[in-house]
Amino acid sequence: MEQEITGRVHSTESFGAVDGPGIRFLIFLSGCRMRCRYCHNPDTWDPAGGQEMTAKQLLDRAERYRSYWGKTGGITVSGGEPLLQIGFLLQLFRGAKERGIHTALDTAAQPFTREEPFFSRFAELMALTDLVLLDLKEIRPDSHRALTGWGNENILDCARYLSDIGKPVWIRHVLVPGVTDTDEDLKALGDFIATLKNVERTEVLPYHSMGEAKWERLGIPYTLHGVQPPAEDRVRNAEKLLNRK
Ligand code: SF4
Repeated sequence: MEQEITGRVHSTESFGAVDGPGIRFLIFLSGCRMRCRYCHNPDTWDPAGGQEMTAKQLLDRAERYRSYWGKTGGITVSGGEPLLQIGFLLQLFRGAKERGIHTALDTAAQPFTREEPFFSRFAELMALTDLVLLDLKEIRPDSHRALTGWGNENILDCARYLSDIGKPVWIRHVLVPGVTDTDEDLKALGDFIATLKNVERTEVLPYHSMGEAKWERLGIPYTLHGVQPPAEDRVRNAEKLLNRK
């Protein structure tokens, strides 16, 4: 029998309504290597943060809310970057499937690689995952690096892989005025998304500054100070440019 391991869990939320279909139990895992300028959860970055829990403990907690899930709900694992704890995720989703629970993974795919041992474990994880919520933050590698500190070649490769295996995906793009909202880049991102065969929906998430206070508390300079949420017409424009099928 596989040895039970613990994951580092930042927090949970009992009634998520936007991170996947239906009402969902949300699990936020600790640890992220990216440094997105707009991150509203910088308190999840520390891989040694959070509380250690087993998959069974988390699933038992999630199942307290099962009666609210109806036919479409379930659990969504987010972060931080949940793929940094892929061994724990495998135990968690395997346990969820044994209990007949719908599984969604909310990821920016930054750790994705076709190198081993990650790739085989990712393939195994996808067999246990019903839906991937995939953040595509920027289409151009240089803009992606400026926004997050990392390039995005492997992230786009992850999107292609998910398309090749036919895994249902919701793409999400955070729209930040003056940063991720130029028509040129949105069109290029829309062109890329149009090549994928597995995208069920593409969502534009309007930037908000609610995370700024957390950055201040952690003593990290916030570089988007003063940036306002996008106007309604810019959000509609982005939705049009990203949903071109
Ligand atoms: S990938 Fe997510 S958790 Fe990590 S820095 Fe970006 S927004 Fe924050």
